[in-house]
Amino acid sequence: MSLPAKPLLTLTLDLEDESGLGPARLEVLADRILVPAERLGFRATVFVVGQLAHEAPGLIRRLAARGHEIAFHAHAHVPLPFEDPARFRQESQDDKKRLEDLAGKPVLGFRAPGFSLTPQTTWALDALAERGFTYTSSVVPGRIARYGFPGAPRVPFRWPQGLVEFPVPTLPLVHAPYLGGIYLYAVPLPVTRWIQRRAGSNGALWTYTHAQDMDTDGPYHALPNTPTWMSWLLWYARRRAVRVLPRLLESSTPNRPLGERAADKTPLTTFQARLGHKKAI
Ligand SMILES: [Zn+2]
Repeated sequence: MSLPAKPLLTLTLDLEDESGLGPARLEVLADRILVPAERLGFRATVFVVGQLAHEAPGLIRRLAARGHEIAFHAHAHVPLPFEDPARFRQESQDDKKRLEDLAGKPVLGFRAPGFSLTPQTTWALDALAERGFTYTSSVVPGRIARYGFPGAPRVPFRWPQGLVEFPVPTLPLVHAPYLGGIYLYAVPLPVTRWIQRRAGSNGALWTYTHAQDMDTDGPYHALPNTPTWMSWLLWYARRRAVRVLPRLLESSTPNRPLGERAADKTPLTTFQARLGHKKAI
């Protein structure tokens, strides 16, 4: 069987509103990604913070009606190391139910804010398995600046709790998540495409983006506690987002949303992580 000329890619989008943009603006920004993506045949996995089930129910309903998968992105975008396990467990249950009512479908997936599932925060997996989630997309495999899970496989695997993990696609050795966010916007696209083609034959790849990344009209602002060159680079990269992402999608073959891929019968390796957490719940 010959491989597809364009590598398979799943589109994922995080929907959170930490800058207080409001539901209407968030929808405009999400559509800057989703409308061109739909034209190319992509159905995305949209990771939504539970708060938005209260603040933007119409937006969630509309995204689901357009064929996108609704998944869970924690209640208030608190990274797992700062989360209270008991509260997380309760909110996972309540928000899952609310999102399912809006989507009209089971909500099966979870993404930790900031990919903050680490050896110290695997308590979250017990809570998610108990609540009926079937997969997560929460791990950067490797040692990387803020979070990261050293030793985790770089292709989809299974946790001992039974959940499937879709780890962030990374470059070997440097562990940079080259297919999403600021990495994708800052690196020249031909370089990304070259790496993607070399890595793409196993269908493990997905890209991630945020609705607010498409808010590219604003003037330059120096970021607090950030060197000027870095602040400028981030601003420049962000302004490229709205052009770069559709071009990446054009040079890829649409893969299914992560929830459908998690249900595949392909056997996956179970990852027995060496954990650094105490049983928290
Ligand atoms: Zn997020």
